[in-house]
Amino acid sequence: MKTIADVLIVGSGAAGLTAALNLAENRKVAVIAKGSLSDSATGRAQGGIAAVLEEGDSFEAHVNDTMIAGAGLNDLRVVEHVVEAAPGAIQHLIELGVPFASENGALHLTREGGHSHRRIVHVADATGYAIQQALEAAAAKHPNIILVPDMVAIDLVTGRNATDFSTSGAVHGLYAYNRKKRRVETLTGRATILASGGAGRAYLYSTAPRGATGDGIAMAWRAGCRVSNMEFMQFHPTCLYNLEVKNFLITEAVRGEGGILKHPETGHRFMPDYDPRGELAPRDIVARAIDHEIKRDGLDYVFLDISHREPEFVREHFPNIYEKLLGLGIDITRQPIPVVPAQHYTCGGVMVDLDGRTDAPGLYAAGEVTQSGLHGANRLASNSLLECLVFGEAAANHINAHWDSLPPVPKIRAWDESRVTDSDEEVVITQTWGEIRRFMWNYVGIVRTTKRLERAKHRIDMLRQEVRDYYAHFRVTPDLIELRNLVEVADLIIRSALSRHESRGLHYTLDYPETLAEARDTILIP
Ligand SMILES: Cc1cc2nc3c(=O)[nH]c(=O)nc-3n(C[C@H](O)[C@H](O)[C@H](O)COP(=O)(O)OP(=O)(O)OC[C@H]3O[C@@H](n4cnc5c(N)ncnc54)[C@H](O)[C@@H]3O)c2cc1C
Repeated sequence: MKTIADVLIVGSGAAGLTAALNLAENRKVAVIAKGSLSDSATGRAQGGIAAVLEEGDSFEAHVNDTMIAGAGLNDLRVVEHVVEAAPGAIQHLIELGVPFASENGALHLTREGGHSHRRIVHVADATGYAIQQALEAAAAKHPNIILVPDMVAIDLVTGRNATDFSTSGAVHGLYAYNRKKRRVETLTGRATILASGGAGRAYLYSTAPRGATGDGIAMAWRAGCRVSNMEFMQFHPTCLYNLEVKNFLITEAVRGEGGILKHPETGHRFMPDYDPRGELAPRDIVARAIDHEIKRDGLDYVFLDISHREPEFVREHFPNIYEKLLGLGIDITRQPIPVVPAQHYTCGGVMVDLDGRTDAPGLYAAGEVTQSGLHGANRLASNSLLECLVFGEAAANHINAHWDSLPPVPKIRAWDESRVTDSDEEVVITQTWGEIRRFMWNYVGIVRTTKRLERAKHRIDMLRQEVRDYYAHFRVTPDLIELRNLVEVADLIIRSALSRHESRGLHYTLDYPETLAEARDTILIP
């Protein structure tokens, strides 16, 4: 049992580092990351962060846009709280040195789909990278923050792991696999914050980092916390289809500048068949149309073609995409781009209140791992980094203010490896991993039916049992830890989708196409 800090934080993205910086004045904090510190969804964010900063814009308008995107399932109290905190959160980032684009002495704001005003602060098209760098630099400088890369959290430590086998559900830290030392360590702390990101890698195609396997959601669920709205997975319509490069986004601006979506076999421009706005229809409609073409004809991808525009124009507007694809043998000034929709954002997650508290005493959560009530049935673009900043700070403030009432750490039993051996059939892990991601893509994707969801449920039940057996017999490895979590979150997604008998926001099912009058969260109780 190792007490390296007062507070343990799982995740070094925007949520985890914001929480750490807000705690460090009073507490010693350890931030763990499963790989390198910078490998997060945060570092990949392109567009920016939404905040009311333009004259003529208002908190009411930002709240209203968020509620419309969320199809009425958002918690109004939470939306108001986050929207009102946004300008302050941006100011904190500026103080940390994030070089947001400016024009004539004011922040330059862009406008994104679903926003009724220009309100996105950005650092060109690499906002997330700049934020990640600034937060990491500030955390590395702080004497009270220990940054621990290559440490994979396995499970939360609760009263059940105490030497007196207490029945308390309080969380006292975690068991984690130290990749460098190749052993499991017991890290304890008075408070633990999950900031471990989303579960996008449950799907075959995802823009999320490789580590987005829903670890925090699965850990909280196993520790007895409620999980909510897991059926709401956001898909980006156009991700490059390539067997090697699985998560390269083709920005929606390509369609904005005249890119045409075509059937790869017939060359037919199909978008006008689905929506009079053609390729400029909203993200969800385009993603559904592509999905329909792919599933109807058993295709691997469709084409996005911008080659009819002047080569100079294409190279000038999309220099990164041009270079990247040229390296893969596709000259986009002459050839179409094979694309598929890809999972992009996990709206559901661990239920938290306005202070980032979960159901377990001592356990907090912030960022994409949570369901805070902000996004409802669909995330409004650029609201998610904002959620990380606001809830990261809220969790830290609550811990600071309630330190004396947090559960004291009892003596914890060490990780027990006495009944396991090294695996001699790791192929089971790669095989199961591939199977899950493929059927989640085909059966629990953009357009759903009850029959497909039931097929997925049948398969996940079988695989969960197999993974449980495997986990019980073999020593943990990072891949096994992730797989165990992936089957858990896939099951939560399927169960949530099966229980929603309507189409709302991102959950679209052919068996229940109507939206019910009353908006209700899907809440799963362990
Ligand atoms: C390509 C892309 C573009 C995006 N663009 C935007 C945008 O423009 N604006 C916007 O608002 N949002 C955007 N998003 C969404 C946004 O980036 C994320 O929602 C947000 O960054 C999530 O931050 P987080 O701190 O919750 O998690 P992350 O930034 O994903 O960090 C997760 C951390 O948890 C760690 N971790 C996970 N599991 C474990 C474990 N078992 N043990 C130890 N550590 C663990 C990881 O190592 C990592 O450090 C985009 C997302 C993607 C993928």
